[in-house]
Amino acid sequence: MRTLPTVTAANYFEPEIETAYMGATQVKSFLQCEEAALARIQGKYRTAPSQAMLAGSYVDAHFSGTLPVFQAQHPELFKRDGSLKAEYLRAQDVINTMEASDLYMLLMAGEKQVIRTGEIAGVPFKIKIDCLLSAETCREIVNRFPEMAEALGPCEGAIVDQKVMRDMEDVWSEEERRKVSFIQFWGYDLQGAIYQAVEGHMLPFILAVGTREDPPDLRCVWLRDGHLSEKLMELEDMVPRFQAIKEGQEKPRRCEKCAWCRATRRLTHADSYPPDVERDVAY
Ligand SMILES: [Zn+2]
Repeated sequence: MRTLPTVTAANYFEPEIETAYMGATQVKSFLQCEEAALARIQGKYRTAPSQAMLAGSYVDAHFSGTLPVFQAQHPELFKRDGSLKAEYLRAQDVINTMEASDLYMLLMAGEKQVIRTGEIAGVPFKIKIDCLLSAETCREIVNRFPEMAEALGPCEGAIVDQKVMRDMEDVWSEEERRKVSFIQFWGYDLQGAIYQAVEGHMLPFILAVGTREDPPDLRCVWLRDGHLSEKLMELEDMVPRFQAIKEGQEKPRRCEKCAWCRATRRLTHADSYPPDVERDVAY
């Protein structure tokens, strides 16, 4: 049996750990572009976090009590006069809205940034749970908010993932040529399936969402177990290939659409128009 390195908060995103373990972000990255995903894992392709991602991390840092450290690590949050830039003032607005909601605060009243490891289809996985609720807190939530009973009825606890989003509108999917729910578009159901399987107790998976709209919107979304089981089956089909790519046994496919593929393109042929569906990019 392979010995795997221990995952900690400090090394969670280090190349050694990213190589040894699959994670929800990696799976989503492989689904977008296998070659870019591999380059990212190998540290060959770094992208600066977007303002939207930083705003999300700002809110995460607030709720895990690490905001001062986060602010010190990210001077780009501030204007020259030391005040927060508008985007992060909005993040503060989202935090205020979340803190004004009793239910939201109960959903965040668990153990923060809980790291677990496990396996899916024989592939080692790591997860970091934003907030792991105890059975007792789940009971308290159902007592105070009886409409939460379907999601958090008798359970041993719950996995809560916090999301800060621009909005919760449906998003256009190029793949499906239609708008899909933000949950499907951003792969939050795949993430839920991974978290539930790796955590191992079949705990309910809840998204606690705040938006950067003015004023912010707040939602709690329970992803049904049946749906997560379907997503887990999809994962079991796809992750062995991703693992084989990481181990160098399969060649990664290029999407030919992302920044990595643009940056590494060598022109060697002419695409035809109308395209040859087997070979060419569609224009
Ligand atoms: Zn690509």
